[in-house]
Amino acid sequence: MKYDRIVIRYGEMSTKGRNRNKFIDKLKKSVKSALSTFPKIKIEASWDRMFVLLNGEDVQEIKEILKKIFGIQSFSPAVKVKQDLEEMKEAALELAGSLYQEGNTFKITAKRSDKTFELDTDGINQLFGAHLLKNIPGLKVDVKKPDINLLIEVRKEGVYLSCETIKGAGGYPAGSSGKAMLMLSGGIDSPVAGFMAMRRGLEIEAVHFFSPPFTSERSKEKVIDLAKKLAQVYGHITLHIVPFTDVQQAIREQVPENYTMTSTRRFMLKITDKIREKREGLAIITGESLGQVASQTLESMYTINEVTNTPILRPLISMDKTEIIKIAHEIDTLEISNRPYEDCCTIFVPASPKTKPRREKVRQYESFFDFDPLIEEAVTETETITIKPDRDTQTEFDELF
Ligand code: ATP
Ligand code: MG
Repeated sequence: MKYDRIVIRYGEMSTKGRNRNKFIDKLKKSVKSALSTFPKIKIEASWDRMFVLLNGEDVQEIKEILKKIFGIQSFSPAVKVKQDLEEMKEAALELAGSLYQEGNTFKITAKRSDKTFELDTDGINQLFGAHLLKNIPGLKVDVKKPDINLLIEVRKEGVYLSCETIKGAGGYPAGSSGKAMLMLSGGIDSPVAGFMAMRRGLEIEAVHFFSPPFTSERSKEKVIDLAKKLAQVYGHITLHIVPFTDVQQAIREQVPENYTMTSTRRFMLKITDKIREKREGLAIITGESLGQVASQTLESMYTINEVTNTPILRPLISMDKTEIIKIAHEIDTLEISNRPYEDCCTIFVPASPKTKPRREKVRQYESFFDFDPLIEEAVTETETITIKPDRDTQTEFDELF
């Protein structure tokens, strides 16, 4: 039996009342974008279901991709037939027959949203159950743990038959919550923060600070590889690479050593905020987790955060490193993050960075030099690239959510 479509059930957005149309529209766009390499498919959306019409495209490959799309509760490869008992019987038999292996058990699960249909759910269960028992010798009924659960869903426009319900990634569809800039380092945390933000429907653009020749091409490649993983979610991601060497050198010359880390963070945040403004984002996301390192104490955050009143989202704030590592492993970024690299923040790391830096102090240290031209230059010299996922390195993170 060849499935001719995939039925998609919406996630949490079903509860979103008036925003529903917007959500459906966003989900349709992300499905379309994620399946852009399958030219023959067509996508149809109705108020409570979406359908991917396969037109001969490979159902297995498409299933793997759909598992990763946020906003999908579950989905089922299915066959559609008319509201005609004979046609339905034939399709049911063909589908169950193609899956049947000796000794298998089955049950029928009927759903009827079209109440005008001639049979109710009990009637459907009985008729089709009897039909399969009669025509597939050896098949037995098991309503608790069947090997084959044949779902027969009677809707106004037709009847859908399927045998498999696959769990989706949940969350909200891409871009339904607005846009934010992800400060993406080559470390373990920030890619995980990006994934978690995307799961809530945020569209993200990544910003990476790069300090050649102190940071190598390899460390840039690493960030591009991480961005490729993030790009799997929506089919692409925009990455801004900020040349940061001059700002960092100026900091090193102007600011006392134990405050260079604080000051570096402040300028990174300031520059990210300028890029955000240009790109019309409404928030900045970081991979910070409270207390993890000197720059992530509450005092540090307070002092660094002074440079902007843009919301800073920190999805990992209360998580332990072991939990973060587990997710990094599941979304397949851990191995990339573990490659040795120099981050622009670690190259000039002071021996003892201030763990309780003060706003007045850092403000004063920064006041002896005009950083603005360097900041402006970093923003104008920023390289913006669109990253697409590597199809052949597609991985599974369906277990995660
Ligand atoms: P990560 O694993 O994400 O690098 P970390 O635990 O190493 O985090 P820090 O290096 O202190 O912590 O960085 C804190 C956050 O600052 C990062 O999660 C990231 O959001 C941002 N950040 C650090 N370095 C860079 C960089 N070179 N470019 C862009 N953002 C950065
Ligand atoms: Mg880091």
